[in-house]
Amino acid sequence: RKGNVIITGASSGLGLAAAKAISETGKWHVIMACRNFLKAEKAAKSAGISKENYTVMHLDLASLESVRQFADAFRQSGRPLDVLVCNAAVYFPTAKEPTYTAEGFELSVGTNHLGHFLLSRLLLDDLKQSDYPQKHLIIVGSITGNTNTLAGNVPPKANLGDLRGLSSGLTGRDSSPMIDGGQFDGAKAYKDSKVCNMLTMQEFHRRFHEETGISFASLYPGCIAETGLFREHIPLFRLLFPPFQKYITKGYVSEEEAGKRLAQVISDPSLSKSGVYWSWNKNSSSFENRLSKEASDSEKARKLWEISEKLVGLA
Ligand code: NDP
Repeated sequence: RKGNVIITGASSGLGLAAAKAISETGKWHVIMACRNFLKAEKAAKSAGISKENYTVMHLDLASLESVRQFADAFRQSGRPLDVLVCNAAVYFPTAKEPTYTAEGFELSVGTNHLGHFLLSRLLLDDLKQSDYPQKHLIIVGSITGNTNTLAGNVPPKANLGDLRGLSSGLTGRDSSPMIDGGQFDGAKAYKDSKVCNMLTMQEFHRRFHEETGISFASLYPGCIAETGLFREHIPLFRLLFPPFQKYITKGYVSEEEAGKRLAQVISDPSLSKSGVYWSWNKNSSSFENRLSKEASDSEKARKLWEISEKLVGLA
C-alpha cells in the first residue's frame, strides 16, 4: 500500500512544496491539514499535485477543539497513519499587541507549539499502530531558535526562562503572554515557539522511540525567504530579505529545494535516525546539526511537556 502522511499547513510555502515532492515519489498519499479548505485545494491544483495523491482536511491549530475534531475525522477516514509532519506556523514580527487562540493562548506559541503538541499526542497511537517500515513524527524547527548560530543570535533571542508565563497560560490578562513571563514581543514569541518544537521532538524521542520504533526528528531546511511566513513583515524587509539571504548569508533555499529536503527526511532510509535535528550543507547534503544549550536542555523539555499537557487538557 501507499504510505499516508499528514502535513499541517500544506496550503503554502514549505508544506505545499513538501506535499508536492512527496506525492511525486508515487509512494505516498498526502493529507493536507489546513485551516483554509479552499485555499488548500487551489494550492494543490496549481502546484500540480494529482488528485489521487492528496486529500485536504480541515485543521485550525489555533483551536484545540478543531485539533480534536481533526484527529477524530482522520481516524474515521480509516486510513492508517505512517508519518505526521508538524509544519504550520505563524509569525508576527511587527505586532505591537498579542493576539490569542480560541482557548486564549498567545497566538504564535498557541499555534506553533500547543496546537501541534496536542495533535501529535492524539495521533501518537495511530502512528504506533502503523505497520509501515518507516514511521516518522517530524516537527519543523528553525535556526532562529538556535542561539549557538549567527542567525539565532539576532535579537530578540529565544529564551524560555523558567517557563513562568507558560505555566500561567500565556493569557496576557493576569499573566504575561510570553513563555518567560516578559513583555510581549512577536518576533521572540515565534523563536520561543520554535525552541518548544525542538524540545518537544526530543522529549518524544526519550519517551517513545524505544517502545514504538517511531523516528522523531526536527529539521531546518534553510532560509526559505519567499514564503508566506514573512507576510506580516514590513514591505522593505520583504523586498530585501531574499537577496540578503541569497548573496550575504548564503543560507537561501528555494521552496522547491526545501520541500525536497523535508521529503528526504520522510523517504530516505539514511535519514531515519530518531532524536535528530537535520540540516543541509551548501552542497545540499544532510547532516545531524547541534542544538543550542536551551534547545537541548532535557530538564526544560520535561517541564515544557508537563505544563503543555495541562494547558491542552491532557493531564
Ligand atoms: P507559510 O506562511 O508559507 O506557511 C505556513 C502554513 O501554516 C500555511 O499553510 C498556513 O495556512 C499554516 N497555518 C498558519 N496558521 C495555521 C492554523 N492556525 N491552523 C492550520 N494551519 C495554519 O510559511 P513557511 O512555509 O515558511 O513555514 C513553514 C514552516 O517552516 C514553519 O514551521 C516555519 O517555522 C518553518 N521555517 C520557515 C523558514 C523560512 O525561512 N520560511 C525557515 C525555517 C523554518 P494559510 O495558508 O491558511 O495561511
